[in-house]
Amino acid sequence: MADLALRNVVKRFGEVDVIKGVDLEVRHGEFVVFVGPSGCGKSTLLRIISGLEETTSGAIEIGGAEVSKASPADRGIAMVFQSYALYPHMTVAQNLSFGLENTRKPKAEIKARVSEAARMLELEPYLQRKPRELSGGQRQRVAIGRAIVREPSVFLFDEPLSNLDAALRVQMRAEIGKLHRRLQTTMIYVTHDQVEAMTMADRIAVVNAGRIEQFGAPLELFEHPVNRFVAGFIGSPR
Ligand code: ADP
Ligand code: MG
Repeated sequence: MADLALRNVVKRFGEVDVIKGVDLEVRHGEFVVFVGPSGCGKSTLLRIISGLEETTSGAIEIGGAEVSKASPADRGIAMVFQSYALYPHMTVAQNLSFGLENTRKPKAEIKARVSEAARMLELEPYLQRKPRELSGGQRQRVAIGRAIVREPSVFLFDEPLSNLDAALRVQMRAEIGKLHRRLQTTMIYVTHDQVEAMTMADRIAVVNAGRIEQFGAPLELFEHPVNRFVAGFIGSPR
């Protein structure tokens, strides 16, 4: 059974179909990368999956259940953004626990989850700091930690590393890979960077103008691109 499925999903803004009938099945535990040029619809796809945006038509299924009308909180999904979206007035510890405070979880469990995430991401020395007292990489770790504490069934990452310098990007890629191997959770990772896609993905979905041109393993796309767009995009890393 697919962990996550999109069935003929269309998203229209005004008169324009930004997503033009996307079908996709992601297996449990898979690391899937959406790659494509700026403006092709990658973020819109993630926002539709997370429930931040409604579909115009078509359906979203998570764990076999249709969730197209479910609220973001009910979908068991956590999203990590490029901009981190941390609360500036809260400490790292407060940022990590904030999303759990309305869930009626016992205080002890919230504390345990925050400690575990902090340990996993090596944030323990920074728990009492504010976001402005952290480096870019540390901030991005807090954003990832905030997703982890919710124990989602699916993680969505929207270009989480584009604000970091090249060296840190390489390091964070490896850390996210490690996290995936450890949690074995389904992850969808958006990037416009072909190298990132090729090195991180179990399977890559190449997105172009609101459609998925091809969905397959990195080597398959590289060796057997279905069209010139895929060949050009995967074959010529920047
Ligand atoms: P990507 O993440 O691949 O760069 P987006 O999903 O952000 O692309 O955007 C895809 C297209 O949809 C773009 O042309 C963008 O201008 C348009 N778009 C995105 N959100 C909205 C919105 N809320 N209203 C109108 N158009 C939008
Ligand atoms: Mg985007």
